[in-house]
Amino acid sequence: MTIYETAPRFDAVGAGIGLSPSALKAMELMDPKFARLYDEIKVGNTSPERQQQQIEILSVEERFGSSWGWKGGSVGHVRFERSSARRRALLEAVKGLIPEGSVRFNKRVVQVVQHRRRRKVELVFADGEKAEYDMVVGCDGIKGMTRGVVLGKIWPEEVPAKYCNKYVYRGIAPIDEAKKIIDQNVRWWVGKGTGWAMYHISQGREANIVAFIQDHNSWEGEQVAREVTREEMEVEFASFDTRFKNLLLVSSVLQSAPPITMAADCDTYVKPIKWPLFHHPDTPTYVNGRVCLLGNSAHTSSPSQAAGAGQGLEGALILSKLLGLVTDSSQLDAALKVYDAIRRPRAQGVVQTSREAGLEYLLVHPEFGGNLQKITVDANKRLPSFGGMTWGEVSEKQKQCSGRL
Ligand SMILES: Cc1cc2nc3c(=O)[nH]c(=O)nc-3n(C[C@H](O)[C@H](O)[C@H](O)COP(=O)(O)OP(=O)(O)OC[C@H]3O[C@@H](n4cnc5c(N)ncnc54)[C@H](O)[C@@H]3O)c2cc1C
Repeated sequence: MTIYETAPRFDAVGAGIGLSPSALKAMELMDPKFARLYDEIKVGNTSPERQQQQIEILSVEERFGSSWGWKGGSVGHVRFERSSARRRALLEAVKGLIPEGSVRFNKRVVQVVQHRRRRKVELVFADGEKAEYDMVVGCDGIKGMTRGVVLGKIWPEEVPAKYCNKYVYRGIAPIDEAKKIIDQNVRWWVGKGTGWAMYHISQGREANIVAFIQDHNSWEGEQVAREVTREEMEVEFASFDTRFKNLLLVSSVLQSAPPITMAADCDTYVKPIKWPLFHHPDTPTYVNGRVCLLGNSAHTSSPSQAAGAGQGLEGALILSKLLGLVTDSSQLDAALKVYDAIRRPRAQGVVQTSREAGLEYLLVHPEFGGNLQKITVDANKRLPSFGGMTWGEVSEKQKQCSGRL
């Protein structure tokens, strides 16, 4: 097996990542060492009574909604364990598990050719090199070319990702500043067309910020992040509690003079950069011939449930277990069929529930509007389906794999 990566090295985009129990279970089943390494870098809710809480829902308004009697909505489950980590720390943990010599950097795939009669797939690289394999796993992200290879001929309209009509501002706050609005537990403040999620990372030394804005327009031009002025960003948070605005203000001071306590690679508070959110709400198949999709190339999700990468881990587990059962390359077609049958309904379901959650948490859901009580009740109902409390089902499917090849 060879991993081809176009970049000169592996790198992490964004600051923090939250992982659900299903993602943690997938890690453990792939390699117990992976789960142990994650345990060393993760941080959860530290209040004992909130260990099983995914988020606490509050209002972005002055005093977080307490002025009109809102005391906070708890979303959790007895079998949920919330945890998050710094992306860069997670990447370091994963890197140590990749067999030496199996990654080739600076290798951009520019063409994928299926030789169907010979049952081979040929990769053509930007530097002119070619390589042939029995199969190819397209784990090349939301805009990856393999999505076009798998879907392009029959479903060309599903190849490009669709705009979620939302963008986010992302950043990291040192814990002393973050403490002004969060305790040790994850919080999600909601407002009409806006939201602010915040949780601890770096073993509690910093807090990750993802601030959401509903966009009524389409995203024109390239699907990439766009810098705006600080004033433009601050206007978006005009209706927020003063403490959020202070956090943004401190940001402008610190941008030119980051405190030395912050990791050199981290974003300084909330940068005035709009990150548009795109997703793949419909992927009619994850497999075409001997090419299959894995991770964001298959099922990019909005981040409203913090479950996109977790789905990638579940996919990697199922695919690796299936490929582990293959003793002859003639069994690959059957293995990929089973992979599609197991993974697609689950992962596309998560994309859909994340879309729903995005509408709810920005108070624009047609059924729930601004009713925080109803939103909390619905979020509690939705949590077991994506959070992994149904993991027994997924494990069961994994066991069934052996019987289907
Ligand atoms: C704001 C935000 C917050 C999020 N928070 C969470 C969270 O809390 N929890 C969670 O589970 N998920 C979260 N997600 C989702 C998560 O970040 C993604 O699902 C995950 O990073 C996707 O990983 P991937 O490996 O599939 O794709 P990528 O990370 O995009 O990796 C694709 C790789 O393929 C390489 N590549 C692309 N094209 C080629 C080519 N032609 N040749 C060679 N190499 C190529 C790229 O260089 C890249 O390294 C969030 C997403 C966003 C936007």
